[in-house]
Amino acid sequence: MTLDDFASILRRATDVVFFTGAGISTESGIPDFRSPGGKWTRMKPVYFDEFISSEEARVRAWQRKKESHLLYKEVKPNVGHTSISNFEKRGKLLGLITQNIDGLHSRGGVSDGKIVELHGSDRTVVCLGCGKDFDPEEVLESLGETFTSPRCDACDGLLKSGTISFGQPMPQAAMQQAQVWSEAAEIFVVVGSSLVVQPAASFPVIAKQAGALLAVVNREATPIESLADYSYEGEIGEFFRKLNPLLADA
Ligand code: NAD
Repeated sequence: MTLDDFASILRRATDVVFFTGAGISTESGIPDFRSPGGKWTRMKPVYFDEFISSEEARVRAWQRKKESHLLYKEVKPNVGHTSISNFEKRGKLLGLITQNIDGLHSRGGVSDGKIVELHGSDRTVVCLGCGKDFDPEEVLESLGETFTSPRCDACDGLLKSGTISFGQPMPQAAMQQAQVWSEAAEIFVVVGSSLVVQPAASFPVIAKQAGALLAVVNREATPIESLADYSYEGEIGEFFRKLNPLLADA
């Protein structure tokens, strides 16, 4: 299928679901995890059980959080984020399932009711003991150069960023909404994900099995390549800059 063919299908569609990964934010200046130079090629993640059991691991996680939070605040949404929000403006976006924690889809204009953040969000901090929410700015400002890991002022429980660590249970409501959108999608478009992190990577397969047309936009092949009805192997920004004029009056 050519880009023109895909665009004409999108022009007629009403229930499009986007599924995004770290790749959609690299053009905003946020490194992904698995590209050369990406985060996991440089540092090992802090697993959830380590966070619970080790003060040293918690301090390491909060030090990284300080850096990433600063970066997420500085960067701006790019053409990928704004193009997806234009699908909502045209009444064609059933939902957006993202693995990203950077908040750029909201800042790019997609409304909260249309977004599911499968791996949580950098914009929240939660007490693991009583569930109380905290403002990340306040928590991060309270940490000096050297610090002990922050605790809840109500129950003394451990505070943790609202992002989901490896080994941490997935947020149930988000998983359920992602399942509903995947099963109902007319067109399911994966953008910028290596599709190796489970269970998130199962949603494109669920959508395809439920009858959606499956499209994948990524600079490298993914494990679901053989299932895809349309693939664009290249840069995400370039893809949307070519696609958008073809949808201009859709
Ligand atoms: P990933 O790093 O595993 O995969 C990203 C994919 O995008 C890669 O296949 C890469 O080749 C491709 N890519 C990168 N930039 C691209 C571009 N400009 N154009 C086309 N393709 C491009 O990321 P993932 O699949 O999202 O899974 C890893 C985990 O990383 C997720 O759980 C996510 O929560 C987390 N993560 C999030 C952020 C963020 O919020 N911005 C950043 C890093 C990691």
